[in-house]
Amino acid sequence: MSTVTIATILNKLDTIAPPHLALENDPVGLLVGDPAAPVAQVVVALDATRAVAEGAAARGASLVIAHHPLIYHPLKSVREDDPIGAVVLACARAQIAVAAAHTNWDVAQGGINDVLASLLGLIETRVLRVTHREPLMKVAVFVPPDHRERVLEAMAAEGAGAVGQYDRCAFTTPGMGTFRPLPGAQPYVGTIGQPEAVNEERLEMIVPEPKWRVVVAAMKQAHPYEEVAYDVYPLVNTAKEEGIGRIGSLPHALSAEAFHQQVKETLGFPEVRMIGPRNRDVRTVAVCGGAGAFLMTDALAAGADAFVTADVRHHEFVEAEARGLLLLDAGHAATETPGTQELARRLAWALAADTVPVTFLTPDGQEAAAAPDEATSQ
Ligand SMILES: [Zn+2]
Repeated sequence: MSTVTIATILNKLDTIAPPHLALENDPVGLLVGDPAAPVAQVVVALDATRAVAEGAAARGASLVIAHHPLIYHPLKSVREDDPIGAVVLACARAQIAVAAAHTNWDVAQGGINDVLASLLGLIETRVLRVTHREPLMKVAVFVPPDHRERVLEAMAAEGAGAVGQYDRCAFTTPGMGTFRPLPGAQPYVGTIGQPEAVNEERLEMIVPEPKWRVVVAAMKQAHPYEEVAYDVYPLVNTAKEEGIGRIGSLPHALSAEAFHQQVKETLGFPEVRMIGPRNRDVRTVAVCGGAGAFLMTDALAAGADAFVTADVRHHEFVEAEARGLLLLDAGHAATETPGTQELARRLAWALAADTVPVTFLTPDGQEAAAAPDEATSQ
């Protein structure tokens, strides 16, 4: 029996799709099941359908992670003759837990929207609407040169020095520290009562605001001095921004018709609907997987020539045409499946050492054919 529990796997999921990034009232995390139950295999799917639950049971998987929350609106009953109730009951009978990584995976770096932007070939991609600004702090510590790597490593292990797709980012400056140990001190270097001057380095790293206390604690643990000199200060001019939707550029401008064709082919979805000005080239493109037309104003304000999303309603098409925006409805599943497959891949990497396999299942409970290569180049 596996000793890996659902709680262990959901902790790893939280590092890939941090739950604090979820939009308001979005029920992400464990929705059905026992966090302490063991897991031998995980299934990832766009929706926790009955067929997906049966496919999971057939494989011996006891955890389904779906992009769309199985229980989105509070249930007043759990009945076999209700589509959601039937899945909840089937999962309970088969002891299959169900969790969701929804808008947190839309917003997360490398998530649904980054995968969609990458698939469509966008470069210089940035967030379309900022939903989270994480305040940053700076921790600067004065350390003997032979302990610099040890202290840097300890701070980085708690999340200091993470900048975009880089970690262990730090800056060091050599200098001289002075001090005089007083009676009762147990100095790492120096003699009681004697003024000392020693070579030290100022090591500075940025830290997300919620983590600075654990970073300082780890830094002190790794530092050889009895009394560690350090500074912690807030940064007002830099903050990590995360949010919903992405906007970027095509490497080469395309005609509206050529862009329409490219979206259909890339997503493997021939029914992409398009409305708006067809006489202008497309260079700047906004994307939002799933129902994203609420971001139309953000797309226009950011200078988008075209906006690729899904579930576009009639009045939204009318508005886009009136405002001169090329709007493409590329289908809910077509815009979100590649990113959900990417979630399965990332979870598989995170669980490789635990030998818990992760399988992506289509809504009919089958294993998907190999995903497009572009999705892995994120
Ligand atoms: Zn969706």
